[in-house]
Formats: sequence, C-alpha cells, structure tokens
Amino acid sequence: MTIGLHDSDNTGFPNLALMKLSTYHKGLGDAVEWWNPLLTYDRVYSSKVFTYTPECAYLPENTIKGGTGYGLYTELPPEIDQCFPDYSIYPKCDYAIGFLTRGCIRNCPWCVVPKKEGKIRGYNTWRNIKRPDSKNIVFMDNNILACQWGLDQIMDMAGEDVRVDFNQGIDARLITPEIAEMLGNLKWIRFVRMACDTDAMLDTILDRATLLEKHGIKRHRLFIYCLVQGIHSAEARCIALRDAGLVPFAQPYRDFENNLPPTKEAMNFARWVNHKAAFKSCKTFSEYNSKIRGHRGGGLVYDQRI
Ligand code: SF4
Repeated sequence: MTIGLHDSDNTGFPNLALMKLSTYHKGLGDAVEWWNPLLTYDRVYSSKVFTYTPECAYLPENTIKGGTGYGLYTELPPEIDQCFPDYSIYPKCDYAIGFLTRGCIRNCPWCVVPKKEGKIRGYNTWRNIKRPDSKNIVFMDNNILACQWGLDQIMDMAGEDVRVDFNQGIDARLITPEIAEMLGNLKWIRFVRMACDTDAMLDTILDRATLLEKHGIKRHRLFIYCLVQGIHSAEARCIALRDAGLVPFAQPYRDFENNLPPTKEAMNFARWVNHKAAFKSCKTFSEYNSKIRGHRGGGLVYDQRI
C-alpha cells in the first residue's frame, strides 16, 4: 500500500500520532511519505492538533482524520499506539517526545484535556520513550505530578543521562518539599514550566519558586505560562513574575468551544510580554502601547518574538 501522511499544523514540532502511523505501516511493508496533493495514495492520514489551524481543502474525501483540531478525541488503536515513533519523518527533531501519563485530576473550564483524556493514569515509561540517539526527552504530560506512576518515573530518571522538559507545565500546587527535591535531581533541557492562569495562583507560584531554588533550580529557568483573559489580571501576574526573576509567557485565551480567536488586545499584550526586549524596557502595557503608537508610520519597534 502507499500511505500519505498530512500534518495540518506544520508547526515544526513533531506529530506523535503520525510518527507512530509511519512506523506501523513501514512495519507492514507499506510505502510511507508526506502527502502530496498531486499524487494518489491507497490511504491518507491527516492529524490536526489545533482548532484554529485551517482545514486543508485538497485532502481526499476518504482521508482518515484525527486530533483535537478536528474535534476528534479518538485514540490510536493499541497496535499502532504501542509503536516507537518514526523520527526519520522529522529529520530536524533531535529529541524524543511522549507521554508518561494521560489525563488530569483537574477540570479547568478553558481546557479540553479532561473531556479528551479523562482521569489521570500511567501510560508509558521514560525508558520506552527515550531515543537511543538523544539524551533529550520532551514530555507532553498534562499533570505529571498528580499521578504516582509519573512521580515514580521522575524518581527513576534522577542520576540518569537524560535531560527533560515537561512542555505542558507542571502543577505548582502539587510541588511539596519532597517533590521539589525530586525535580531538583533531574537534568532539565532549559526551562521548568508552570502555569499561572489566575490571580489566585500567583502566590503559589512565587512560593514554589523559592522552594525550587533551594533545590538548585534558578528563578530565571522558571518559565510561567499566563493565560490572558482580562488584561488587567494578566498584566499584574506577568509583572509580578518578571519582578520576581521568573520568565512569564502570555497565552491569549482562545474559545475552543465556539472556535473564536483571541482578541486583538490580548494578542498585542502577548506580543509585549513574549518579546524579551520589549518586556524589559517597557515597564507597563500602556507604556508599550504608547511607544508602539509613537512609532507608527516608522515601522514597528518590536517585531520579533523570543
Ligand atoms: S490542570 Fe492543566 S491539563 Fe489539567 S484541566 Fe487544568 S489546564 Fe487542563
């Protein structure tokens, strides 16, 4: 059979489902390649992670679609899900990706994870996920610290020759002194990520920053996702985090249920916070706005993201 794979989002971040499908079909002796609209295939798979990615109008009608972006929460069949990802289809990717756990214990109103994945449970081991040719692993777990299986995996990685990133963030509320010590025993690729999505989380984040610092994780390596719904609240959180030496990262709210994009103001706010130089030189969002307005006609002052 000839198999065409289509990565709708094309963000550069590897698509785990497509890599597993590639391994599975190559194992059956099928010819697998990226889908080309000019060619015909026996089967085409398309994956779409983000709801805001436009659908490709040229995919054949019988394309097998999957992913949250299509509004589909279906899982891969077990015989495909257990395949080791075929990293050769993303030659620029030099790290492993995977999940140690699936699901979450919480039910945040803006999040699809509880609906999509359900209750938290163990899923895989870091030894299964690690690539033989790389020591870096990016875990996509939604709430690794909420599951004993996840904690056991973290303990097992201490002292091993692996560097990690939990790219969805770890839940600051669950960081006890014992867990902070476990996290301090890991080698990190660059950042330790947490989320400060509401005003109520700010004190917790600042408290855990102090705790993690005691275990060798410096403040400038704490990368904090900040959901932007109300600008006033997001600005207060981002400024407080910056002043405490942490690295806030603004994420404009997107209404997934109704497929509504973020507001222009929230996007502009994120442009300020996420541009290192702009966020450092403009102490407030209104200062940033007035600088931008002052330079209108002469080109944008800050036109690049970190
Ligand atoms: S803690 Fe994170 S993954 Fe869990 S429901 Fe909230 S936003 Fe979603």
